[in-house]
Amino acid sequence: MRKIAKLLLAAMLVVPAMVSAKNKVVVVMVDGYRWQELFRGADSTLVNTKEFGNPDMMKANFWRATADERRRALMPFTWSHIAKNGVMIGNRDKGCRMSVTNNMWFSYPGYNETLCGYPDDKNINSNAPVDNPNMTVFEVANNTPEYRGKVLVFGSWGRFIQIFNEKRSGLEVNANYRHSLAKQPTERELYVDKMQDGAPRYWEEERFDVFTHEYAVEAMKSRHPELLFVGYGDTDEWAHAGNYRLYLEAANDVDRFIRELWETAQADPFYKDQTTFIITCDHGRGVSADKGWFHHSREVDRSNETWLMAFGAGVPAKGVLTSGEYHNNQMAATVASLLGISFAPQHEGAGKAITF
Ligand SMILES: [Zn+2]
Repeated sequence: MRKIAKLLLAAMLVVPAMVSAKNKVVVVMVDGYRWQELFRGADSTLVNTKEFGNPDMMKANFWRATADERRRALMPFTWSHIAKNGVMIGNRDKGCRMSVTNNMWFSYPGYNETLCGYPDDKNINSNAPVDNPNMTVFEVANNTPEYRGKVLVFGSWGRFIQIFNEKRSGLEVNANYRHSLAKQPTERELYVDKMQDGAPRYWEEERFDVFTHEYAVEAMKSRHPELLFVGYGDTDEWAHAGNYRLYLEAANDVDRFIRELWETAQADPFYKDQTTFIITCDHGRGVSADKGWFHHSREVDRSNETWLMAFGAGVPAKGVLTSGEYHNNQMAATVASLLGISFAPQHEGAGKAITF
């Protein structure tokens, strides 16, 4: 009954072009995925280097004559849907830049900056399992009466448990090799638990993205979170391993995952046309064609360069932006503004919401 009253109120108050109080937001992060592949597709030197994977396979799947065809082959949903209906930030070839403001240029500091809205190099300067002293916008939302209990977090990397500070925030964080955390798992969740248990634990603290994704999609269908985080990590792991073939395939998987999250939302009246998607990364990678692209850190030139894309409710169809300078510290405030909750971290380096 309360929900119906709220919906009626929201419907009465809704003003065209403004986001209603019950807008839903899906945040996707793709660990260490470069803007170079997002906007240019597969790299000509890397797909021809045997040491980085089977060139025949890489070329058959992702090599095409032009950069536009290459990026479409790599991320078909991104270029057929997001580029047409949303906003894409960070194409430096066109004059739009995005970067992290922290001075670390690796994962935990990148997630902290992006999810909390400011860098914290004093406290977050390693990937060690330290409970985050800062509050993510997810925790802030979960502390409001409107979104309490309606926030869910899924991630491949085990560190999300500390990044979202599960202990303090009370957020449900399904990361690493955890099973479904639903009180009454669906049949499908039990099946994903079983598949995950039977698959190789190739990385000690990070499962393959397919499991993270399946849990997230099933939770959207069965539990209807209104603020959802999905953190994919295969791209970063395969790049660190120097395997360009699997890095490209991971990016291609992520594109398909995003499409499935979007189609799941649009097929459900709970989400349809009232859900905003924001997709970004935690850092870039190096650019040199020998092994520079393997890694990222303060010592790896240009690995602070990032990107962001948004589409869905409240996002205009501007396509690839050709100017402007953006930073990861703006993401948390952007999410808060889409949710309609107040968010004003009193911390040095806090970023302002992006107006799309
Ligand atoms: Zn990372």
